[in-house]
Amino acid sequence: MAELVKNYIGGEWLAARTGETFQSINPATEEVVADVARSGADDVNAAVQAAKAAYKNWRLTPAPRRGEILYRVGQLLMERKEDLARLMVQEMGKVIAEARGDVQEAIDMAFFMGGEGRRLLGYTAPVEMPNKFGMALRDSVGVVGLITPWNFPIAIPSWKSLPALIAGNCVVFKPASDTPKLGAEFVRVFQDAGLPPGVMNIIVGPGGSVGNALATHPDVRVVSFTGSTEVGYRMYAQAAQLGKKVSLELGGKNAIIVMDDANLELAVEAITWSAFGTTGQRCTATSRLIVQKGVHRELVDALYEKTKSLKLGYGLDESVQVGPVVSRSAREGIHEYVEIGKNEGATLLTGGGFADPLDGKGFFYLPTLFDNVTPDMRIAREEIFGPVLSIIEVETLDEAVEVNNQVAYGLSSSIFTENVNAAFRAIRDLSTGIVYINHGTTGAEIQFPFGGTRGTGNGMREAGQTALDSFTEWKAVYVDYSGRLQRAQIDTETILKDQ
Ligand code: NAD
Repeated sequence: MAELVKNYIGGEWLAARTGETFQSINPATEEVVADVARSGADDVNAAVQAAKAAYKNWRLTPAPRRGEILYRVGQLLMERKEDLARLMVQEMGKVIAEARGDVQEAIDMAFFMGGEGRRLLGYTAPVEMPNKFGMALRDSVGVVGLITPWNFPIAIPSWKSLPALIAGNCVVFKPASDTPKLGAEFVRVFQDAGLPPGVMNIIVGPGGSVGNALATHPDVRVVSFTGSTEVGYRMYAQAAQLGKKVSLELGGKNAIIVMDDANLELAVEAITWSAFGTTGQRCTATSRLIVQKGVHRELVDALYEKTKSLKLGYGLDESVQVGPVVSRSAREGIHEYVEIGKNEGATLLTGGGFADPLDGKGFFYLPTLFDNVTPDMRIAREEIFGPVLSIIEVETLDEAVEVNNQVAYGLSSSIFTENVNAAFRAIRDLSTGIVYINHGTTGAEIQFPFGGTRGTGNGMREAGQTALDSFTEWKAVYVDYSGRLQRAQIDTETILKDQ
């Protein structure tokens, strides 16, 4: 029997109270990576109670001291980077170079948020009465629930947990059921860095039971969720009934626009990386290419050659460029969309079927290009979350922007042009939370806000200082040292006369 991945509650690693387990599977080799506790609502409740108890001291621990623990987290993540990256290849399939990048994001975030321990900036402003002082402070909220997907299994938990902790909250974290071992190893870093028991807890298990119990628990004040729009919106509706604050990071249908004057060689490199990196399973993956008519043929020919040349296989092999998709069912879902695209009349240029680089093992899918796609087709509107790129031809920049903006999602967009006027018009008009010029749709850095408009979320942002907005409440403080009652908006004139 493989090692059992357990829950970490109040500083102890514990099997599920249900006594049940499930397995985490390597999507390339189909071997068992780990047996995992199949937790239930009782485990969630125990973790929330542990977090609630730990909150009493953690909120009073000076933020610079909290920051020192986060620096140690960053240090340990650096030391464990290679081990975590290799585990990531095994547990969810991305190639090793990308897995190292995933861990690096968490390292960057740990040091950035460690620094917030000496900022967590509030502000003062002048007040209208004499001998009175006003300031606004960020305050912690209490126990926060973090629910994350499998596609960035270290980076995304770091975007949520590190700002939550530096702000003085305690955490109950539920990783995706496809990446529970990575979730547990991430939490072990906090344990080893000296985080007090109960401040960070993890419960592994299925979303339907564990995720739902966490999101609806009465003592969880904030729920931060990254995942599918379907689950996120359902959770949002439930949370509204319960008066909880929710941060949602959901799906994407991101596009790269290529104008006639673009550097095509650069565009081909960027499109391939953004569309087929992580096997198309990034929320910021490019799944639409909006190309101006004059370069359509040349660009598609070059893209076809590049796509055909990509090497598929097991991501631990440094020369492999595209790994498997995360599961058998994910592969089936992708293939269904390819059938839909064919039935809608799009032209399948390459791909469109299962790949078999490991001789019968693994959930591989061929990088796929569809040409002659129109914006109304389902493959141009719905998130596929796999290596499928839909190519749409347009005549003008205005039409390109319109096509970009007409999907339900608004996470990331990009334009390739050498014309500075076109670039700035695109920055102004593209309706997404992230815009790139002469770069693909992926590659966010942690010091800037991350998130999207419309169906991609609910207006919250992760990363940067904006991440603190999810995990803090503002407290306005007025200090009156006049020794008399000074009623704001009422006594202003009389008091000034008395001065
Ligand atoms: P998912 O919605 O299936 O699962 C996300 C998490 O929610 C998992 O931990 C899962 O166990 C849990 N969950 C499932 N059902 C639940 C329920 N009823 N109640 C509570 N929790 C539940 O998504 P996924 O397949 O893991 O991830 C892929 C999706 O995530 C894609 O849509 C992708 O675009 C999105 N994503 C978005 C971002 C972003 O920042 N916008 C980043 C990465 C991934």
